[in-house]
Amino acid sequence: MYSGIAVSSGVAIGKAYLLDRSKVCVIKRNIPEKEIEKEIKRLRDAIAMSKAQMQDIKQKASSIADKYSIILDTYTLLLEDDILVNETIETIRRERSNAEWALTETLEKFTNLFNNINDDYLKGKRDDLDLVVHGVIKNLIGHHQESLEDIDEPVIVITHELSPSDTIIMPKNHILGMATEVGGKTSHVGIFASALGIPAVVGLGSLTQFVNSGDRVIVDGIQGEIIVDPDKEQLNHYQKKQKNYQRYEKTLLKDIGLEAETLDGEKVQLMANIETIHEAKSIRKYGGEGIGLYRTEFLYLASNSLPTENDLYSNFKKVVQTMEPYPVVIRTLDIGADKQLSKINNSPEDNPALGLRGIRLSLAQPDLLMSQLKGILRASLYGKIKILYPMVSSVEEIVEANDYLEKAKEELRNSQIPFQEDILVGAMIETPAAALIVDRILELVDYVSIGTNDLIQYVLAVDRINENVAHLYQPFHPSVLKILKEIFVIAENMGKPVSICGELGGDPIATFLLLGLGKVHELSMEPHSIPKVKKILRKITLKEARKLADHALSLSTSEEINRFINNEMRSRFPSDFDRDLAFDEKKE
Ligand code: PEP
Ligand code: MG
Repeated sequence: MYSGIAVSSGVAIGKAYLLDRSKVCVIKRNIPEKEIEKEIKRLRDAIAMSKAQMQDIKQKASSIADKYSIILDTYTLLLEDDILVNETIETIRRERSNAEWALTETLEKFTNLFNNINDDYLKGKRDDLDLVVHGVIKNLIGHHQESLEDIDEPVIVITHELSPSDTIIMPKNHILGMATEVGGKTSHVGIFASALGIPAVVGLGSLTQFVNSGDRVIVDGIQGEIIVDPDKEQLNHYQKKQKNYQRYEKTLLKDIGLEAETLDGEKVQLMANIETIHEAKSIRKYGGEGIGLYRTEFLYLASNSLPTENDLYSNFKKVVQTMEPYPVVIRTLDIGADKQLSKINNSPEDNPALGLRGIRLSLAQPDLLMSQLKGILRASLYGKIKILYPMVSSVEEIVEANDYLEKAKEELRNSQIPFQEDILVGAMIETPAAALIVDRILELVDYVSIGTNDLIQYVLAVDRINENVAHLYQPFHPSVLKILKEIFVIAENMGKPVSICGELGGDPIATFLLLGLGKVHELSMEPHSIPKVKKILRKITLKEARKLADHALSLSTSEEINRFINNEMRSRFPSDFDRDLAFDEKKE
């Protein structure tokens, strides 16, 4: 069992798809006596496949250079080498092992032999052999291409790291679960996975060394664990847990039509965070009342060229129309840091999280901002849109962005293109600098939205996607609670609304606390989280929440606050926070 950080709830059981861009890692598996001949056949088939692949390359190569096709002939001969094949078959029989492991053993033996001979020509042969054998191993483990785009069966993706572009090209309907070696609580993989309801665990160290493609794997996105090659007992346990989770989700969905309000009548608008237009369609299914954060950068990541004002307009229009009569908050481009895009920011930075990102980048490349603002304004005719500026850290940035907004409006007026004149504008509060001057910021905008993912990262100086410091990424750190409280108090005094759109807003364990910290107008989260947050919300009073938050604020360490909140939530809602979800449906 391998432990990591749970970032998307649920249990997935399936075949591993190891995406390893550097090398193929092979581990030993024991084969029952009766399957040994089958294993040998697998080896022979994989070798035959390699020969066919060589033939194929040779045909393509012969038009380029004869020399190259001769090299390929020698490769094919290596595959016909009896010693290589027989040695491997013998190891399969003797060790009762899987073919890929036996082949790796043979390769190692030959490599050692070559290494002991001081002859450059033979050393060259060693590298040829290595290449050829690895080709066979790749055939054995079942994937010779390294693109997630080509996945055509249900799998659990296991890899070192997944970039936003990787997640975009994945065929989502085939992805049962995901596990990555790097990543922290709010890394993109988690956001993407939970948006789609795919169980995911990140920060798993060197997991790829212990999994082969095709192995049966369990992803426990509730506990943050991965089980490779489970035994019968484990398999039974997790199949039950998976069923329990699915049953639990179903019961949650029964109540999505109910009002999102506390027992004493405090209403909170529960909205969805989306990254692509496709997610907009499922929001109502989860009882969401609008989009509280549309992360528009994925429109840029998904296309080869930069989207034009017209592209943006038609995309925003569709999203707004899908959501009508509910509002849609469209965030201007937040490229940089964890969402890199070389088309836009192509000069590498030593410290991208503190670099040219969010609104800073938009102000440095005003054409980008103008096309976004005009696209948003034009779409505003078709529903309720609010603009949101990301990664703000000063008043000047908002003044400048608002100037561009006025300019965009002016240009549209001059071209007689209609739009909503009184469109609302907000700023994200995700830097300590913005939090400390939220009063000045609120004089320039209509609302603020707290991006807890980044706010926590910057308040605590802890990289949100670095698994080495993931244990220090503490949403319940006293400094975080204190800064959140400050924002609420100031906004409430000024009569301006506050939303929360970071992952914390969608974490049901935090719902009670957040409500107690101040007046929350909107909580925006991955659509899947809405039903559970609503359930918790409907079972508490604001008065109780305030008491809980006051006590949490009086504590000095994250550990104390974590313990206090977890105990409170588990004792009030035992079945919702039960690790194995062995809840009693009748009592629900
Ligand atoms: C945040 O920082 O909390 C946020 C919502 O923005 P993102 O996760 O896209 O940086
Ligand atoms: Mg952010």
